[in-house]
Amino acid sequence: MKFELEGNIITAQRVFCIGCNYAEHVRELHGFEEIPPVIFMKPAASLTPADEVLSPPPGYKGAFDYETELVVLIGKNGRAENEQEAESFVGALGIGCDLTLRTLQKELRNKALPWECSKAFEKSAPLGSLHKYDPQQDDLENLTFCGFINGELRQSGNSGNMIYPIRRLIVELSRYWELQMGDLLFTGTPQGVGALKNSDIMTLQDHRNEKFTWRVDYVQ
Ligand code: MN
Repeated sequence: MKFELEGNIITAQRVFCIGCNYAEHVRELHGFEEIPPVIFMKPAASLTPADEVLSPPPGYKGAFDYETELVVLIGKNGRAENEQEAESFVGALGIGCDLTLRTLQKELRNKALPWECSKAFEKSAPLGSLHKYDPQQDDLENLTFCGFINGELRQSGNSGNMIYPIRRLIVELSRYWELQMGDLLFTGTPQGVGALKNSDIMTLQDHRNEKFTWRVDYVQ
């Protein structure tokens, strides 16, 4: 997937995802909230633009969950030493979904095995168009976004409710990786996650109120 930012074409690099970043969602999944930042990755090839069809892997039986998430495009190379520096790494913002094979994830988690297959499968990262970050217009700690299934509001989030806010997440990632222009950060989902059924229409609304839609089609 490629993005245009100030006339430059940027190719998607790594897709970093944050788990357990909203207390209400952590409670609905685990019943507790004190957890260090959970970082995992999806391949860049799993990014799926709007209007494409989403499917669980063929033969998978179990919950196929949506997780609506604010997404940050990293706009420069390097490591952020502190939260003040971190803001300069925010290139663009948008909306995405961290699709999850929930039944499989729970099975793997119970066996203390890696979640990879439940999170990084084909087309597991739907992503809307991105908007260049504008500090005059976008308050990183007050960005609202929503997720609708068949037109019904299911998730409503605000970055102000993140346990680890965007700047802090960029510092945390910088401890392990030298960030690259084109890296993406899925910042975690608020409460209200649920399963996608065959023929569902998933609509995500970003912080600038732009909407993107995907259709669900279970492979028979
Ligand atoms: Mn997630």
